[in-house]
Amino acid sequence: MVSSPSLATLSPTQLDTWLALARQQARAGKLPDYIPALAQANPEALAIAIQTRQGNPYLGGDRTQVFPLMSVIKPFLLLYVLTTQGAEAVFSYVGMDPSDRPFNSLAQLQADRGFPRNPMLNSGALTLAAHLPGDTPQERCLNLSQWLNQQAGSQLHLDAGILASVRSRPNSRNQELAECLAAAGSLVQSAASALDTYEHICCLAGTIADLSQLGMVLVSPPPNLTPDHCRIVTAIMGTCGLYEDSGRFAVTAGLPCKSGVSGALLAIVPGQGAIACYSPPLDAKGNSVAGLWLVTQLATSLHLSVFYRDSA
Ligand code: GLN
Repeated sequence: MVSSPSLATLSPTQLDTWLALARQQARAGKLPDYIPALAQANPEALAIAIQTRQGNPYLGGDRTQVFPLMSVIKPFLLLYVLTTQGAEAVFSYVGMDPSDRPFNSLAQLQADRGFPRNPMLNSGALTLAAHLPGDTPQERCLNLSQWLNQQAGSQLHLDAGILASVRSRPNSRNQELAECLAAAGSLVQSAASALDTYEHICCLAGTIADLSQLGMVLVSPPPNLTPDHCRIVTAIMGTCGLYEDSGRFAVTAGLPCKSGVSGALLAIVPGQGAIACYSPPLDAKGNSVAGLWLVTQLATSLHLSVFYRDSA
């Protein structure tokens, strides 16, 4: 009997060929211009890490490159608050419905009367960031990174240079989101403090291996985590993780994903493993062009879509 394709059957040669093609795809993307450090990223940088439950990691491309997670931190912020406060509390703070508006849409938040539609949007992450324990934004960020590093065996750290760059050009849209949330009573801290914490956690940085290890927490939860919380996070990545593109990507690739404006992208293959990609040029929705292309190649060739079901 021929064994069905899976992440574990991937050949390194095949992956190297795709990496070369992904480099060409990246040329169609653009660097974001609203955070100076991200505007100066190397558009040619490309890295991939694939971890499977069998434990044979594949690392390709610029494996020593350190990059900020930006919005890829959002599912892990959600996991932390689920773990510390439970699902009932979390979903009294944020919704779980997808949005067809951009990740920083004020119109969406206003239409929802200041209740964030989901935790993958900036509004939802601002709200949950205010629930991190600690007296200062630095302390709250440190608490989250230490907890994640413990769960994942990763080495995430705050990149002070990126944070300075974020602060050098105050983000008026994120300020408006925080103020709208505060006015609606959705924040347990001041707007300024929630925004400061959010900016800190977006600047947590690591290598491509760190990102794939974070993903494995959702695939094989450590014993102290509740598998149901990991399932909830993975489901919300699937419905909301790529913003307006989430529905289309569910059809084309069928893997729960989360992107960040740094060009980081994490895909979860439930029951099998995690795929982490880094390539800074973005499409119009703010998702890494080469990252989405690579995950789609892997998903279609290896039949990884969660909407396949093995008849065996
Ligand atoms: N810090 C970024 C912002 O608020 C994160 C957004 C993202 O990665 N999509 O704009």
